[in-house]
Amino acid sequence: MLILGIESSCDETGAALMEDGRYLLSNVVASQIEIHNRYGGVVPEVASRQQLASIIPVVETAMEQAGRSWNEIDAIAATYGPGLAGSLLVGLTVGKALALAHNLPFIGVNHLEAHIYANWLRGSGDRPASAHNDWRYHEGDPAFPLICLIVSGAHSELVLVRDHGDYELLGCTRDDAAGEAFDKVARILGLGYPGGPAIQKAAQKAEEEMQQQHKAVSAARKAYRLPRAWLRGTYDFSFSGVKTAMLHLAEGATEQSVSAPVGAANKQISRYTRMGAQQGASDVSLLAASFQEAVVEVLAVKTRQAAQEYQVKQVVLAGGVAANLSLRTHLEQELAPLGVRLTYPPIEFCTDNAAMIASAAFFHLCRGERHELDLDVEPGLSLPFRK
Ligand code: ATP
Ligand code: MG
Ligand code: FE
Repeated sequence: MLILGIESSCDETGAALMEDGRYLLSNVVASQIEIHNRYGGVVPEVASRQQLASIIPVVETAMEQAGRSWNEIDAIAATYGPGLAGSLLVGLTVGKALALAHNLPFIGVNHLEAHIYANWLRGSGDRPASAHNDWRYHEGDPAFPLICLIVSGAHSELVLVRDHGDYELLGCTRDDAAGEAFDKVARILGLGYPGGPAIQKAAQKAEEEMQQQHKAVSAARKAYRLPRAWLRGTYDFSFSGVKTAMLHLAEGATEQSVSAPVGAANKQISRYTRMGAQQGASDVSLLAASFQEAVVEVLAVKTRQAAQEYQVKQVVLAGGVAANLSLRTHLEQELAPLGVRLTYPPIEFCTDNAAMIASAAFFHLCRGERHELDLDVEPGLSLPFRK
């Protein structure tokens, strides 16, 4: 079954063609990073206008790259939430219009569920010979029941997934999402937007410096002592404490090197933002390495605990922060001794893309689910948890 997926929930415009929910025929993503970098974060008004400019060329390119025609397509899917209302509206409207014009079924997709299904994606050449009739399972798929750690720009959730579409929430963040913490701390350190990749890069640099000085790489991660919110007895997370600690540390560090008195709060922020240039670069890198360690350690340990309690044999990572190499390594170390399999999407499919949208849609369509064309955007949509 061939599905055209469309994603426009935030600042990425995506279109992709997927066969049977797993096999990728084309994937096009137009990113607005360059535009929002100037403001240190996503500006919703700018994002939706840019979505409008990108959507048609992105869809056309995805069709061209797959080399398929409209009459070969079986269904159209688009994200309807969660996300920015104005951005969501663009992809959803185009998706519904294409479904109407080509007389195809339409599926509105939950963006968070799609992040989970990014773990089902693979190349079109990777289809096993055995995989024709059973839509539920193809060789190489993650195996249920599994624990999914969703760590993205706006969500941090630990979810027990018993089967396709069967979600139980074990815990979630009480304040900032993991990706949000990366983005805010990168801003404090003057490392730019998006923060996750920038912090990872700075942390790697700190570790390389340690190696050059013939010290243990772990010394970079322990350079600053940062708080970890364990919230024992729950699977909840909290990242605002470590973020505030970073703010104070950055303030202390800048105070020593900048003599000008501090004025209004926003002036303070612009001073932190300049820190990368003013401080010795290695201070910033050590702060980045220590911060990354504090976040990743809590995520990895709590995910392992959930895997043990629910006795699953499989853990999957989802969302932009799943691209983080330190998180992947930490989790691998936690899970390998238990014989629990860890999978995560290829880096480019961790952050927003439309392939994962087409994938999630496939599993709904196979259960006979589709939407009417009066479906509206739902900016605050959550996963459909079991009560
Ligand atoms: P949501 O999916 O919750 O609606 P979103 O779509 O904005 O939010 P994603 O695209 O899934 O979020 O992920 C973006 C986030 O991932 C950003 O916060 C970014 O900093 C973070 N991120 C990307 N790469 C990395 C990395 N290598 N390490 C840590 N964080 C990363
Ligand atoms: Mg984005
Ligand atoms: Fe996302």
